[in-house]
Amino acid sequence: MNNLADFDRRHIWHPYTSMTAPLPVYYADSAEGVRIRLADGRELIDGMASWWAAIHGYRHPALNAALTAQARRMSHVMFGGLAHQPAADVVERLLALVPEALDCVFLSDAGSVAVEVAMKMAIQYATGTGQPHRRRFLTLRGGYHGDTLHAMSVSDPHNGMHTLFSSALPAQFFAERPPAGFDAPTDEHYIGKLAALLDRHERDIAAVILEPIVQGAGGMHFYAPAYLRFLREQTARRGILLILDEIATGFGRTGRMFAHEHAGIVPDILCVGKALTGGMMTLGATLATRPVAEGISTSADLPFMHGPTFMGNPLACAVAAASLDLLCASPWQTRVERIGKAFREGLEPCRSLPDVADVRVLGAIGVVEMREPVDVAAFQHEFVKRGVWIRPFGRLVYIMPPYCIEPSDLATLTRAIREVVALNPTA
Ligand SMILES: *Cc1c(COP(=O)(O)O)cnc(C)c1O
Repeated sequence: MNNLADFDRRHIWHPYTSMTAPLPVYYADSAEGVRIRLADGRELIDGMASWWAAIHGYRHPALNAALTAQARRMSHVMFGGLAHQPAADVVERLLALVPEALDCVFLSDAGSVAVEVAMKMAIQYATGTGQPHRRRFLTLRGGYHGDTLHAMSVSDPHNGMHTLFSSALPAQFFAERPPAGFDAPTDEHYIGKLAALLDRHERDIAAVILEPIVQGAGGMHFYAPAYLRFLREQTARRGILLILDEIATGFGRTGRMFAHEHAGIVPDILCVGKALTGGMMTLGATLATRPVAEGISTSADLPFMHGPTFMGNPLACAVAAASLDLLCASPWQTRVERIGKAFREGLEPCRSLPDVADVRVLGAIGVVEMREPVDVAAFQHEFVKRGVWIRPFGRLVYIMPPYCIEPSDLATLTRAIREVVALNPTA
């Protein structure tokens, strides 16, 4: 164990940490259902679904069976010039879940790549349709779209640490994020400012890109569907594409299969990832409408220029197809509602604590926002002591467990948050 800890500290980077002063890590040995078992034998109830992904919990027999069956047949072949059943299976299932207009699918390796693909599609579409001046993107402050350079360029300039990369990132247009609250009344002044920004830069904008309803890693901010409807109407009118990044919100997390369903709109391009494989494998997909695909390839010598080595990986596709079957056959709406109800009851008492700024819940997402940034290591230490796996960031303590979590485990998660937030080991 100690050797392992030394080796890891010395040689292996973890997300958003330094090699010189890394945050502590815990050793995961195995995982099953909603429990992560540490190497020292302790078991933790998972509150994170491994960053939105493990919606069915861990080591699910149906997903494992799909993986091993596919491995026995064919783990991978290049997608250039070859097609296969697992890719068709996952795309067929995706098409059944998204609006009918989104019927052209690009499979890639991860969420950030799905975003890069969407942005490249928008640029090639502008070129293909005789609008080569449209090269930039408009997005909302407080967003998060991934860690590759172009995805970073449309992520929040402050959270995304743009200053570290300033002259290396393309400059995009940023609108303020919509006012907080899924149920908040429409703010006409905000709408007016959005329209003015679009007026000013209309000629330069290839696409508006944003996370619908829930901004995730950029601040766990919830906003009302009316703003999405407004942007859909405005972008359509101005010939600007609308890219929705549902990498976090997709597959039921907000209470609808996709968050854009809350607004009843259809984007031109949709990005999915994370829970697509039930958190088993890495896989992203970018879905575009037929007019977008045709605008990119107005002639035979205008292909869409992207093609990762592991595009359409059969193992990931087979697991994703199995995961979507599992999701659709499960009472996921009821489960998400039940989780939301448990969060409302279990987290609401935090609101009266002096260090807490806000408590909010949407779908199966629960957020306690503190007034000051928390000490991640100290919070995690307290959570692990209480048998739960919760990893805060910034001022946010948040949970989004696997949908199959039982009421008693939900109660343990929310009790741990109440206790640790009250203790506030940051101070
Ligand atoms: C996680 C995330 C991404 C990036 O996905 P990766 O698989 O980490 O590359 C992009 N957009 C959103 C909204 C995300 O939550």
